[in-house]
Amino acid sequence: MPMSSGSSAAEVQPVPRDVPMKSVTLEWAPPVANRHVASRYIELLPPERRPIAGTAGAAYRRQQMARQLPEHDQDPDKCHELSPAEVRQMQQFVRKYKDEALGVGDVRLPQEMAQAQALGRGEQNGGPGSGLGNGSGAGSRAGPGAGTGTGAGAGSGSGLGGGLAEHGGGSLGTAAAAGAMGAGSPGGALQNFTCHQCKLPMRVGDPAVYAERAGYDKMWHPACFVCVTCEELLVDMIYFWKKERMYCGRHYGDSEKPRCGGCDELIFCNEYTQAEGQDWHLKHFCCFDCDCVLAGETYVMEAERPVCKPCYMNNYAMKCASCQSAIEPEAQRVSYGASCWHAQPQCFQCSGCSQCLMGKRFMAVNNHLFCSVDCKKKVLT
Ligand SMILES: [Zn+2]
Ligand SMILES: [Zn+2]
Ligand SMILES: [Zn+2]
Ligand SMILES: [Zn+2]
Ligand SMILES: [Zn+2]
Ligand SMILES: [Zn+2]
Repeated sequence: MPMSSGSSAAEVQPVPRDVPMKSVTLEWAPPVANRHVASRYIELLPPERRPIAGTAGAAYRRQQMARQLPEHDQDPDKCHELSPAEVRQMQQFVRKYKDEALGVGDVRLPQEMAQAQALGRGEQNGGPGSGLGNGSGAGSRAGPGAGTGTGAGAGSGSGLGGGLAEHGGGSLGTAAAAGAMGAGSPGGALQNFTCHQCKLPMRVGDPAVYAERAGYDKMWHPACFVCVTCEELLVDMIYFWKKERMYCGRHYGDSEKPRCGGCDELIFCNEYTQAEGQDWHLKHFCCFDCDCVLAGETYVMEAERPVCKPCYMNNYAMKCASCQSAIEPEAQRVSYGASCWHAQPQCFQCSGCSQCLMGKRFMAVNNHLFCSVDCKKKVLT
């Protein structure tokens, strides 16, 4: 029985009796014609990852949309101040990933997919997988539209479904069906169909995710369709396939180009800075205090932020307890308690007899250094 949970819409629009769906609103559903397969796909996701409106799963999806598919990886207009040459480089990059890597997963029952493959071999090359290639960009697909899938997945899905219905009685079709059914073990697992990610078998009656770029011989449990780098669920099944690995948009981009630690954009010029374990646009690795460019300059990390040497000397440098001047970031120093000295004989010396105390025993009293109790008495009494 369909559950209406008191929604008035459920009384006006009759819910099909054969599909037991709860009346929840999905912010996204896989683009498949069969609603039962679509809802089973959602059920197979971890509860906190289901894109149900008003839940943590919907928030996760929106957050992952921005994280995995940054607009500035897709559209030069979303980037800061690209030079004409950088714009051309970026357009080339976008064209390349749309041609070679980008796709949208397809949700199918493994037996059904095996049949369709056996029937349709040779008929459907070069068909689906181009839903994102029309310039709309992956990130712009974030709108609502529960169950109303458009684009690549839906197109190829209905095409294959139609083919099956026509050829259902054919000898080839039944042979494939028998083979597929025979593959099921008593435990409900399909031994011939294993997940490319976790290597465990698919369960009888459960749909798998397919990726055209990877080939229809590979399949994933819905919860296993993740990025190899961040291991997050590929948002809306939008994937980038490269060298036998599945990536989200961000990590595919990172595998191709350096990414700036300042603006988060991919770097399309040849010159850039490497610092603090990250890459930076030359103009984006700059002093946190005065904004001057730090490429090739001495800088100091203060509270995990880079500052130029002049700003460091003015705002952060320790003062030598002896000569009272700021200690340069690269200068040798001696610190003791809260005090600091130039590691030089003229600064790190006994206040009584002026002998250098480097490498010797000393006492420190009120910023004064002493070699011995005698010198201390001499000065402090
Ligand atoms: Zn798996
Ligand atoms: Zn990723
Ligand atoms: Zn930058
Ligand atoms: Zn500065
Ligand atoms: Zn000094
Ligand atoms: Zn002394």
